[in-house]
Formats: sequence, structure tokens, C-alpha cells
Amino acid sequence: MTATNKVKNLQPRLMNYFAKLVATKKLAHAYLFAGPEGAGKRELAVWIAQGIYCEHAAAGRPCLECSECHRIAAGNQPDVVYVAPDGLSIKVEQIRFLKDEFSKSGVESNKKVFIIENAEKMTVSAANSLLKFLEEPSGQVVAFLLTTQPAALLPTIVSRCQLFELQPLSARQLTALLEAENVPREKAVLLGRLTNSLERARQLAQAPVFDKLSGSVCQWYLHILQNDWRCFVEVQTKLMAEVTNKEDEKILLDLLLLLGKDSLELTNGEKESAFKKYQTRFAEQLAGISSARVAEGTELFLQTLYLLRINVSFQNTIEALTLKLCRCYHG
Ligand SMILES: [Zn+2]
Repeated sequence: MTATNKVKNLQPRLMNYFAKLVATKKLAHAYLFAGPEGAGKRELAVWIAQGIYCEHAAAGRPCLECSECHRIAAGNQPDVVYVAPDGLSIKVEQIRFLKDEFSKSGVESNKKVFIIENAEKMTVSAANSLLKFLEEPSGQVVAFLLTTQPAALLPTIVSRCQLFELQPLSARQLTALLEAENVPREKAVLLGRLTNSLERARQLAQAPVFDKLSGSVCQWYLHILQNDWRCFVEVQTKLMAEVTNKEDEKILLDLLLLLGKDSLELTNGEKESAFKKYQTRFAEQLAGISSARVAEGTELFLQTLYLLRINVSFQNTIEALTLKLCRCYHG
């Protein structure tokens, strides 16, 4: 799937808005796109840049087929320059480089676009250097600053830009996008509930441990709901055996929190579980447990976050959770 298909689904309203500005040549010279990871900030900026240079643009919308569109998508168009943090920050040398690029003669047209990712990571000197640039735009420059944390940018920078807040994706939108990328429906539904970032969902979809771990955690939880002692064994033989690093721990933790939330929602009449394969079996078991106890169980899932934050070991936390859930549901 191309970046543009993504934007088409993600931000149709903003795409219409910017296509008109491109077509009427009324783009301002600095925009700030703020929004969570995966909301399509970069894709939108790239799409607008493609609209500016495309050989067959129609009403400001790029064709996505021509060489200009391809070069921009690949980062090979000299008039469209990307800047991203070099290590932890965007340094003043990077902004100076940007200015030099733009002052060079022989670039391919008068119009220039730059896209600064994680703009909040600019050092103060980089931000000040950019500020001068924004104040005296040389020629026709359009700047797109992208950030997840607009509050972390210098106010002087923000005030030079038009701010657009990109909304996070809904679970339904995310599920549909994943299905369009051939992720099976069951998994797409689960991922859509687990995160609101398309990037994170894609990462998880490809993580080798994900399918195994999501299956094991459901089986473990079903045994807890059934008051089956095998849940205690499974902490060791399944969950801990499958989790091999911090990233796996994070995936397991996210799945646990979702199980807690999902149980409460199923008890409260939600029709579609995030865990489709187990939905019927979960619902059957939960029907035999009072809603007060289910709510208490959800609290126990949330407590794992606290325990991990105060450095209780991961395995101890999961073992304690297993015991507490069994007592809560069946005690
Ligand atoms: Zn094109």
C-alpha cells in the first residue's frame, strides 16, 4: 500500500483542504502538523508536496504515477528536503544544511518544500536558525513541521506556522486499513483495539511473537475464568517462555490491559470483543461472574502497570495477577 492510499483513508478532509490550496497556489509558507504517531502527518505532507510538483496533478491532487510523484515518495526530489533527528535532536547544522540546499542555484524549480519530522526535537539554536528562515523565506518555500508534542516547540516557531491537529485513528478505521493490507480480520480487529497508531499496528502485525503470545494470553485468561489450575502453569510454560525481551513484555502488557478492558465491555453488553476467536468462550464464562467482580478484575489488570513501574519483576507481577484474578472471580 502506498503512502497516499493511507492518507486517502486517514485524512480526507485535510486532503481536500490542501488540494484546493495547491491548485490555487495559496499555500502558506509554514504549517505545523500535530498529532499522535500513526495519524498520517508525514504522509499528508508528502502528498501535498507531490501535488505541487506532479506532472499530471488534477485540482491540486497528485497522480502518484509520474516520475515526480515517485521521486518525492522516494526522497529523491532535490526540491523536497526531509529533515529528521540526527540521534536525539535536530541540530543547528542540519537546519544550516537545509538553508544551503535552498540557496543553491540549479535546483529544479523555484518552489521548495521542506518537511521536518519530530520538529519538537530541534535544539534551541536549530529552532532559532529555522526561525530566521521562516521570517525571510527565500523564494517560494513551504515548510511542514511535524510533531507529536506541539507544546514542546518554541512558541515563536508555533506562532510562525499554521497549526493543524490530526486526529488519531478510530479502532474501526485502523482495522479497515489493516485488512486492506491483507491482515486477517481477527487479527486486524485485535490490533485496531490495541493501538491507535498504524505504524505500531504494522509493527505488531509483523512481530514474530505476536500471534503466539496473543493466543497464549487468551488461553491463560480462559483458564482463569474457568478456575482451571493450568493458568498457573501457563505463566511459566507459555507467557514467560514466549516473552524474551522488553518489547515482548510491552506487547504482553498491552494485551493484558486490553483483556481487562474487553472483559468489562463484554459484561456491559459490548457486542464485539477485541479477541474474536475467544469471544464466545469469554462471554460464557463472564456471564457467570458478577459485574462488580469483573470490574474489580479490570482494576487488577491496571494494577500491573503500577507494579511494573515500582520495579516488581515481570514474572512476579504476572504470577500475582493470576492469583488475584482467580480469587477475585472465584473466591
Ligand atoms: Zn504525479
